[in-house]
Amino acid sequence: MKNFFSRKSLNVAAVVAAAALALTACGGGGTAGAGSSDGANAPAFEVAKDVSLTGSPTFDKIKSAGAIRIGVKEDQPGLGNLDAATGERSGFDIEIATWMAASLGVAKDKIEFKAIPSANRESALANGDVDLYVGTYSITDKRKKIVDFAGPYFITGQGLLVAKDNTDIKSEKDLVGKNVCSATGSTPIQNIKENFPGVKTTEFDIYSKCVDALKSGTVDAVTTDQAILLGFASQQPEKLKVVGEPFTVEKYGIGLALGDTALRTFLNKTLTDGGATWTKIYDSTLGKSGTKVEQPKVDQY
Ligand code: GLU
Repeated sequence: MKNFFSRKSLNVAAVVAAAALALTACGGGGTAGAGSSDGANAPAFEVAKDVSLTGSPTFDKIKSAGAIRIGVKEDQPGLGNLDAATGERSGFDIEIATWMAASLGVAKDKIEFKAIPSANRESALANGDVDLYVGTYSITDKRKKIVDFAGPYFITGQGLLVAKDNTDIKSEKDLVGKNVCSATGSTPIQNIKENFPGVKTTEFDIYSKCVDALKSGTVDAVTTDQAILLGFASQQPEKLKVVGEPFTVEKYGIGLALGDTALRTFLNKTLTDGGATWTKIYDSTLGKSGTKVEQPKVDQY
């Protein structure tokens, strides 16, 4: 893949830098950035009444069930995290998901969150196992053949996480001969395999397993979106650090069934009209330090 991180992408740099600040700031004690503290001040969303949305098979299902099933991640602090002790889900993606449900007339207690790993997202949407997917899901042309996306609602880029005492990996240029871990079915693992000859790869279904492998010394680095890696680093700043600059552009979309244009248009409108809500969500999760980031413009393809 080309190096997308050019001068043209300075807005991406701003987003990533802001996320870095936010997560570093809230991770100072080594515990924040995850769990129930994250998103504790998240906005309560007004649940829409009498939603009129014709021509959407997914919405028809949601309406007759009186509930919505949303695929998420649950091991990604700051974005999509499950606190095993309290059962509470938190993070930017969880709030975006809750907001989308509210705009469709579904209250938080009627959302069934399902943890679905990167490799299974397309099939979960195509099979109708979930109505929406909100979990660090990059919009790509390849995926657009199987699913549709509303958004983007966030922009980040591929980065690297290494052990705090690592001195030989400073950027993606230092990966030859190293063992790099990422999630099966993700854009970062695909990028490494296709464009980084001489780099060894290790794959797991979820990123927290890569982080465990990094901590035990089985792999030299973890690669995925920098926003995800910053969440892990903020949890254990004494053991982990993010190095280098983002070297791709990842635009997060809300995954939905292919061809449900009515639903896609509806969710895009929710995003476009809801700038103030987006900012509240950002400020209460990734932007807790007070750093401001612009909501990306929706791409109504
Ligand atoms: N955003 C990238 C992707 O959609 C990496 C993160 C993930 O695996 O969820 O593949």
